[in-house]
Amino acid sequence: MSDFHDDLALLPGRGAQTWIGGAWRAAHSGRTFAVHRPATGAHLADVADCTPHDVDEAVTAAQQAWPAWRARTAAQRAQALHDWHAAIVAHTEPLARLMTHESGKVIAESRGEVAYGAAFVAWFAEEARRAYGDTIPAPSADRRIVVIRQPVGVSAAITPWNFPLAMVTRKVAPALAAGCTVVLKPAAETPLTALALAVLAERAGVPAGVLNVVPSSDAAGIGEALCADVRVRKLSFTGSTAVGKRLMAQCAPNLTRLSLELGGNAPFLVFDDADLDPAVDGAIASKFRNTGQTCVCVNRIYVQAAVHDAFVERLAARVAALRSGDGLDERAQVGPLIHARALEKVQTLVADAVSQGASVVTGGEARGGLFYAPTVLRDATPAMRLAKEEVFGPVAPVFRFHTEAEAVAMANATEYGLAAYLYSRDIGRCWRVAEALESGMVGINDVRLGTEVAPFGGVKHSGFGREGSRHGMEAYEELKYLNFGGI
Ligand code: ADP
Repeated sequence: MSDFHDDLALLPGRGAQTWIGGAWRAAHSGRTFAVHRPATGAHLADVADCTPHDVDEAVTAAQQAWPAWRARTAAQRAQALHDWHAAIVAHTEPLARLMTHESGKVIAESRGEVAYGAAFVAWFAEEARRAYGDTIPAPSADRRIVVIRQPVGVSAAITPWNFPLAMVTRKVAPALAAGCTVVLKPAAETPLTALALAVLAERAGVPAGVLNVVPSSDAAGIGEALCADVRVRKLSFTGSTAVGKRLMAQCAPNLTRLSLELGGNAPFLVFDDADLDPAVDGAIASKFRNTGQTCVCVNRIYVQAAVHDAFVERLAARVAALRSGDGLDERAQVGPLIHARALEKVQTLVADAVSQGASVVTGGEARGGLFYAPTVLRDATPAMRLAKEEVFGPVAPVFRFHTEAEAVAMANATEYGLAAYLYSRDIGRCWRVAEALESGMVGINDVRLGTEVAPFGGVKHSGFGREGSRHGMEAYEELKYLNFGGI
């Protein structure tokens, strides 16, 4: 029996059941896998462990539910999404606690994620009613040309642990709005939030089979089964670049449509004409959010020589004051890392940087369990591993630059291209640099990129496709062109 009985009360079987075809039941294998709290290592729940057999049933359920769901009017689909949104918002506190238990993020951030994740549901409920087509002037007088949007069909979603709620709604809401049905495979670290979302979708009247959830400890097996099934017409994945490439190869035989939101290596440029205090605020907000474990977290901070030392001093003073702790403690600002592998990676990258000449200004050490001290490094160089790899932890390396051209070249010297940030009060420089940065998103004097109203996504090895905004529906729609003759 888990010690967290009350916080699991929303979940059928306390997480041990899967949601397929409108029924809560055990996985076919009869097996479960354990979910732990990163903050303490405590056992949290045993979750249904799905296999390709369950995936097959989930795809069948989604396929069967599709005709009736797509036949609903846009307003009817929108209503179901509005009801789901209301149910999510009404359960902000239980959802936030579940998320903090299983992902380790601090409770204030979990509450923020409920609002952020719910906003996608409301947004796509609205967008459902605006799936407009086109009329196109025809090349001859006896023809009329019309373009309509139709749902692609059964869609698969594979989501990561760092946003257990928002990455689910960012995929499922536009799919449902467009008239698609979904099979969702949440991360093994954080399946409980996804199952809770299914409970609330059921209560909101989302019909049986429209959303199916198949948690599993065998991510590769489930991924293969989803890609190999010709009935699955679309796969949307958020996670690492390595897995994204593998899924793309697996999707090739069926030409399954893909959206990939993959790793990042976000640069943060501070020019000597920047307001330093807002730049420090931005660096901290973006670097330490979710303990540095988001794909848009600042990974490399480049500061122009004239303001370098002042920036490092102010940043380090603020970072040293950040309070780490169990996310359920309202005073905690930084939580644990997700698992031992993540902690090891942070330690390895810091050791590599120090061995190549970086100095630790604050932090630079593990603090027991899965906690790592919020850290600032100075004298970072492009040869260090943390210049090339996503740290995914609470470590801020600072590099020095002299000219704008040098800053842009260093920022772009990465295979990734998701988010980039720059601070400057020179409007011409802001435009020049923002246009020159090779990334899908640029924060200019502001690091708040995540919002349902704007298109989120990357270039280069950070993937392709956009989520959120009016473009977020496009991933789940086909354009069909109708040519009427004999007019
Ligand atoms: P992270 O490093 O953030 O855990 P992953 O890419 O490993 O990134 O995980 C993101 C999601 O992809 C999770 O749901 C995970 O279970 C899933 N996943 C991991 N490996 C595979 C795979 N080979 N095929 C399909 N999904 C996978």
